[in-house]
Amino acid sequence: MTTRALVDIPVDLLPLILLPPLEVLSDARARGAECVWGGEPLSTATAIDLGERDTDGEHWFPRACRRCTLHAVHTARNAHPGRCEQCVDDASLCETRRALHALALELRR
Ligand SMILES: [Zn+2]
Ligand SMILES: [Zn+2]
Repeated sequence: MTTRALVDIPVDLLPLILLPPLEVLSDARARGAECVWGGEPLSTATAIDLGERDTDGEHWFPRACRRCTLHAVHTARNAHPGRCEQCVDDASLCETRRALHALALELRR
């Protein structure tokens, strides 16, 4: 049996995708049962993994629905150039920017 291929967020992009602070999240959102942003119920077929996070020694595993992830990736992509020397220099050569753009395209499918 094959499972539907989910979008895998490259590990080096995860820190660029900003999450709500752990202390404001319900238990269900903090453990990945619900979308960390919108609170939509998630299943293994729909959830997008946002990696293991470590907040003050507490490990949590946020997940999200595709729509909210796309929104967060757009936000990350728009915020990125102002913080990146390569983008100031020549944005077309920036791997990070390209990777965020590719991820947004993949999420939109
Ligand atoms: Zn959501
Ligand atoms: Zn850049």
